Amino acid sequence: MADEVQRVFVASVVEEDGNSLALGCFSSEETAWQVLRTFLKKSDQMLLTSSSVVVWDIDVIGEDGVNVLSTMECKDCPVCGRRTFWMDLENFSALCHGDACAAWVEESTLEPGVIDCGWPPIRFLKQAKDIDEAFKELFKIGDQMKAVSKVSNLGDKEPQEMLDEWRRKSALGSSDSNNGTQNDGSNETEGE
Ligand SMILES: [Zn+2]
Repeated sequence: MADEVQRVFVASVVEEDGNSLALGCFSSEETAWQVLRTFLKKSDQMLLTSSSVVVWDIDVIGEDGVNVLSTMECKDCPVCGRRTFWMDLENFSALCHGDACAAWVEESTLEPGVIDCGWPPIRFLKQAKDIDEAFKELFKIGDQMKAVSKVSNLGDKEPQEMLDEWRRKSALGSSDSNNGTQNDGSNETEGE
C-alpha cells in the first residue's frame, strides 16, 4: 500500500488557440515544476497564454480528486520584451523565464501590500505601492535597454550581448541607477 502511487502531478500549458499541451504526469510536485520551468524558458517560441500544475488523487471519482496547485498567465516581459514573463495571479508573483533576464515582481514578504520588483542582471531592486507602479519601473528598465540596443524589438539580438552593452553604458553613464530617473542623460542613442 505504501508503495502505491496515491497522487499524480500534472503540468500543462495552453496555447493561444485554446489547445492544451500536456507536459506529463509525475509522481512528485518537484519534478512537475522542473519540467514546467524548463519548458517555459522557451515559451517565446510559441504562443502560450497560461500554464498550470494540478494534483490528481488516484481512484477518486469526480472533481474532488483534482486540486489546482498553480496557474500562471503569460505576458510579454517588460524588460526584455520576450513572451517569457509568467505571472501567478493568486500569489502576486511574476518572473521572466527567458535566458539572461529574470525580471520579477512579487508582493513583499516583510510588508504586506508593498510590491517588490527587480532585474538581477544590474541588481536593480525597487519597492512599489502597487503592481502598476512595479511594472512601470520594469518598463523603464526595458526602455533603457532598448535605447542602448537601438532596436525596438529585442527578439533578434543575443540577450548576453545586450546585457554586456547595457552594463558598459550604465557603468559609464549614471551614478544613481535606481532612483527613478528615466533618462540618465546619455544622448548618443537618440538617432533613428
Ligand atoms: Zn525578460
